[in-house]
Amino acid sequence: MTDLEKELAERMARVKEEVAEAARGCGRNPEDVTIVAVSKIHPAASIRALHASGQLDFGENYVQEAQAKQETLADLELRWHFIGGLQSNKAKFVAGKFALVHSVDSLKLAKMLHKKASERGKVQDILVQVNIAEEEQKSGIHENNLFEMMDEVIGLDALRIVGLMTMPPFFDEPERARPVFARLRELRDKLEPKLNMKLPHLSMGMTGDFVPAVEEGATLVRIGTKIFGPRPYKK
Ligand SMILES: *Cc1c(COP(=O)(O)O)cnc(C)c1O
Repeated sequence: MTDLEKELAERMARVKEEVAEAARGCGRNPEDVTIVAVSKIHPAASIRALHASGQLDFGENYVQEAQAKQETLADLELRWHFIGGLQSNKAKFVAGKFALVHSVDSLKLAKMLHKKASERGKVQDILVQVNIAEEEQKSGIHENNLFEMMDEVIGLDALRIVGLMTMPPFFDEPERARPVFARLRELRDKLEPKLNMKLPHLSMGMTGDFVPAVEEGATLVRIGTKIFGPRPYKK
């Protein structure tokens, strides 16, 4: 085992334990929460090192960086998550190439992903990213437009909506994020009967706020810094 493998395995084990503790503390099964290791800006070598201890789910934000890593790590069986803001003109680089796209925030983007996935003969799993009505929060579709958007996306047969994602704006006070997480769960619970479908996944919670996120029902937590350490400066 290399030093890097050992360090990342230890950090990952601590994060897993904390996530499991938060889950057990509210009567949930820790196995119902998947930790997506957010590897953006960190080198492919860090992903390879963490994969050595069994981690399979990795999250990336930037199309070109993700593509380069997918090529470098093509020998590994990884589950790639696209979690960053995505312009519809870049959908072609993402559709059919990620296990899950967390950040679908417009009908336009959904249509492009559908078109490209369809051309590749794939069905792309997606989450719809919701902006929970906070002024500071810029990304995500407004909750008032959510039903209408999802109702249309359901008709796109190369996409499969498996849940919702949100990212609250408060990075330093986890408890302020709790109402945002609770709201995402409420929205999910309301949408399921309205759309007549299951939305099993809630992607919410990062390094600073994964505890309240798990307590409010997260099934996917996206954790970067606490696993890999601070990110090197971006470009
Ligand atoms: C970077 C990022 C994360 C991880 O953030 P950390 O605070 O490093 O855990 C999670 N989700 C999204 C959408 C991100 O961009």
